Amino acid sequence: MALRRQTAAISEIEARTTNDETCPFCGGVDRQRWGRTRTKVQRYRCKGCLKTYSGRTGSVIGRIHRPDLFMVVLQDMLGNSVPLSVRKLARRLGINKYTVWRWRMLVFSIIRSSSPMSFAGIIEADETYQRESRKGSREWVRHIADPKKTPPPPRPRWEDFTTKGLKMMRGLSRWQLPILTVADRGGSHLFQRLPDRRAATIQLAMAPLMPSDAVLCSNRGNGYEDLAAAHGLEHVVVGSKPGTRVASGCYHIQNVNSLHACYKRFIKPFCGPATKNLDGYIRWLEVRITGVQPAELVRAS
Ligand SMILES: [Zn+2]
Repeated sequence: MALRRQTAAISEIEARTTNDETCPFCGGVDRQRWGRTRTKVQRYRCKGCLKTYSGRTGSVIGRIHRPDLFMVVLQDMLGNSVPLSVRKLARRLGINKYTVWRWRMLVFSIIRSSSPMSFAGIIEADETYQRESRKGSREWVRHIADPKKTPPPPRPRWEDFTTKGLKMMRGLSRWQLPILTVADRGGSHLFQRLPDRRAATIQLAMAPLMPSDAVLCSNRGNGYEDLAAAHGLEHVVVGSKPGTRVASGCYHIQNVNSLHACYKRFIKPFCGPATKNLDGYIRWLEVRITGVQPAELVRAS
């Protein structure tokens, strides 16, 4: 198992330099084989600048001591099965949980939202919400250390809660962060964090996605109505409550609702990720849905 893991990872890394012969330091093309690295990857030496390098020099995994284990973590993140928890993964690989966590954050930094999708035809739009989280935040520590310099961070008060948790306070709750989801019938989809729930924000985010001949399906939100009015789009309003989501025939928002379900299922095990990392989690979900190969991701970075 361990050996197979290693060889697969190596061949993925190797693929970088077997095709590309230029030196990452000086760009020279004259090189010679120069043994193997500690992780058994072919090392080369540039005949121009006499520096040695391997396939991963200069890449995102260039300075990782165990690139083979990193590739296992990456495969776990992008695979079809539910990702393991950081602790479980760390135990399985025999490394520290903070290492796995750091690698996960590293992966977040190399996942760029893939080429912007284009939408056409009937386009569905809706928002889902994620509870704000200051997990890992140092704000209270800083406040207690120096109350004059750092004000206490805002927090929900008793009046913000109902028996079912935080109330949504139609359009006002600062504790529920909106995530815009858009989908069309051709399979294009998008998750995007919005800074707030104002109509103008939704309109601004949606405007570049909508071709002029599209039909917009959404709930009665102001942003969508303003958008349709401003661009002269056909707008079909569907209810947001179960049972009212199909206006007539093909006009519904079932695709975005299934994206929402997909999002909820994906995010649940993380018990409310810290808001500062939420963008990373959203992009992670996107690459899981579109299906990117681990080697592809490392090579592109
Ligand atoms: Zn060189």
